[in-house]
Amino acid sequence: MGGTGDNSELRQRLRKGRLCVIHSGNVYDVTDFADRHPGGKEWLEKYVGQDVTRIMEDQSPHKHTKAAFGIMAKYRVDDVSEQGHKQNGEPQSLGKDKFYSMETDTLVDWSKPIMSQIPSLGDEYYQWVHEPVDTTLRLFHYDFVETFSKCPWFMVPIIWVPVALFMLLRCYTNITTSPEPVLWHPFGIELTVTPVAMFPLVFFGGVLWTFCEYTLHRWLFHMRPPSSVPILMSLHFILHGQHHKTPMDRKRLVFPTVPATIFATLILGLYGLFAPWPVAQAMFVGTLIGYIVYDLTHYYIHHGTPFTAYFRSLKRYHVKHHFEQQQLGFGISSKFWDYPFGTVIPDVD
Ligand SMILES: [Zn+2]
Ligand SMILES: [Zn+2]
Ligand SMILES: [Zn+2]
Repeated sequence: MGGTGDNSELRQRLRKGRLCVIHSGNVYDVTDFADRHPGGKEWLEKYVGQDVTRIMEDQSPHKHTKAAFGIMAKYRVDDVSEQGHKQNGEPQSLGKDKFYSMETDTLVDWSKPIMSQIPSLGDEYYQWVHEPVDTTLRLFHYDFVETFSKCPWFMVPIIWVPVALFMLLRCYTNITTSPEPVLWHPFGIELTVTPVAMFPLVFFGGVLWTFCEYTLHRWLFHMRPPSSVPILMSLHFILHGQHHKTPMDRKRLVFPTVPATIFATLILGLYGLFAPWPVAQAMFVGTLIGYIVYDLTHYYIHHGTPFTAYFRSLKRYHVKHHFEQQQLGFGISSKFWDYPFGTVIPDVD
């Protein structure tokens, strides 16, 4: 950087294939951030070399919150102190009140494990957790525990597809080797469970998943923990708060295997209370497939560049849930249950 004005700085970087944008007369090199841009990499590519001051004030294509400006501040490359002065008058850097970033986030010590610091946040926890920062975080002191708290996305199909196939096979064997016909009495109707009945039962299990997804996300993950009960604050943070605090952390997005196993066992047990075992198994397979689709969709709409209108719309919807309307838009793999429960985020097409 030679202090020869931002235009040459910009030109040099663009020539090297860097992804730069201009905001309020300053140059930002966002190459390293592009993949994590919640609105999608394609928008940054579309505005490469251009002034984004206006579009970042607009609601469209997506609103930019204080967190966005806080992240952006890190990528400024035309250092004012090096240049001394500018031809175009005073550079208007992003005012401190305009953004929220790790530098202004002094409530926690980012160099230390976060879990043990959560209870001390008290009344400030709930607002803090909804102010996202672009970083990865450490939850626990012990490496062993820390390893299990993270999970790359591909672990979801690697672990759960074989479990679903195994359970489907068990279900089929249970039905076909049963000495007597397997009977089920939902709502007083007597049904004989045949291998063909597995199809509608799996489908029904999948529908039940979509309801679970909504219910868990809305009432468990987004319950507001009272600051007088530190254990509930910690639970909130580990279940979902961490994903809202660091939404760009790739290893803290899908469910880690250990908590997913606990949820799966509870759901299978619950089905087993209400239905004969083969029926519970078939429904569980459907629910598990629904979960796999959900978690992969969640990862994809965060980090992928959707090329169908449906997924682009889901991405915009979920970005709004993260950055603007945390009390709306609980459907992630579909918006379906947001309609009957009245939690649809308006104006997302
Ligand atoms: Zn954006
Ligand atoms: Zn959420
Ligand atoms: Zn998310």
